[in-house]
Amino acid sequence: MKLRRTKHAGWYEVMTACPICGHKGWCRINHEQTIVHCMRVPSDDYFDSVIGRQFRHYLDPNAVPQTKVEIEVNKAVEKKPDHHLNRVYRALIKELPLSPQHYEHLLNDRNFDPDVIRLREYRSMPTQERYKIAKSVINRLSDQSDLLGVPGFFCQEGRYGPYWTMSGSTGLMVPFRSITNEITGWQIRVDEPPLELAMKGAIKGEILEELERDESGKRRARCQLQIQDKKLLVDLTEKDKKVCNSKSGQFVFSIELKQGQRYWWWSSGSKDNGASIGGPLPVHFALPHPCLKYWQVGQTADTIMDCSEVWVTEGPIKADKAADGLVKPVFGIPGAGAFSLLLQPLKELGCKHVVFAYDADVVKTPEVEMALEQCVEFFARETDMAISLAMWDISQGKGLDDLLDNNLIPKISTLLE
Ligand SMILES: [Zn+2]
Repeated sequence: MKLRRTKHAGWYEVMTACPICGHKGWCRINHEQTIVHCMRVPSDDYFDSVIGRQFRHYLDPNAVPQTKVEIEVNKAVEKKPDHHLNRVYRALIKELPLSPQHYEHLLNDRNFDPDVIRLREYRSMPTQERYKIAKSVINRLSDQSDLLGVPGFFCQEGRYGPYWTMSGSTGLMVPFRSITNEITGWQIRVDEPPLELAMKGAIKGEILEELERDESGKRRARCQLQIQDKKLLVDLTEKDKKVCNSKSGQFVFSIELKQGQRYWWWSSGSKDNGASIGGPLPVHFALPHPCLKYWQVGQTADTIMDCSEVWVTEGPIKADKAADGLVKPVFGIPGAGAFSLLLQPLKELGCKHVVFAYDADVVKTPEVEMALEQCVEFFARETDMAISLAMWDISQGKGLDDLLDNNLIPKISTLLE
């Protein structure tokens, strides 16, 4: 298990698979490896923090084999305030390109208009010569030290001394806007998501290295597996799930090589002079694209558009699409359990009615149902806002963006008057 120190002594961010949800990053674990504060799998035991609602899960100290712990050396610095991040990220927008490949994706796979792609200011993280872009950004600002504490940037040691460059995988960069049109962070939709092992039952394993793709273009990886006391090296192929049952037909284990997370925060918390994106974690606020031309930095969105009703969905691009399709303001949050991050901005916007619109395939899962229940209880306690849930059949589209692209609108049911 790879861990990263947090601001709270004795607590670490889990950088490899979280023992509860299986995803990388965001979830916390204590030093003794007995308690996990998972950000994605709800439980009745929780608390709210600057990174969202943290769900407490207790690990059985006897059942859980203590995995070897690696703690990242942390030479990161505190994240700078939003107005500073906005200044640096707006300089970055002027220097970063949008690659033809990402432009095509937005145009053809996401059904964006060319005008909208330009106004939303999507960009591409290049593979090479990132230091040149960092240098150009510094030239637009006043000082080298302006990049200090800005998530994504970090210092690298070179032959002629340290220099600034940028972290992150190659991919489409999606800006996160605050309710005052400050750009306070980015997510990268990575071109090549890292591979992960999905395992159930009596098996342990890790990916050692990615191999060349097979003839049909599927990704492959060499993996070290442990089944009971036996260790073995196996080459696995993506989406080729192996299930092992005993002679009597009982389930023993299953394993599958899968593509992992597509969206990652642009962060540099594990790097020299870098900064972590968390605390407070940005949430993305999308207005319909025609508003963007008139929206000054520092101007609260409710002076541009009626914000008495605000919609909420998962993910920034989906929020951008939904704002245009619905002609409403839409928040994009990093997960269904992250609703507590919305409280302050919704109050500032003078919102009276919040409509949650999660993907049709997740809205009926126990995790999302529990998150919604807690969300209703939270808003009832903290605000006098009404809460509704938008629903539709999956055959009409998976996400809110797909539904709207098909010229359909969701049914709305009231959860809290
Ligand atoms: Zn987790």
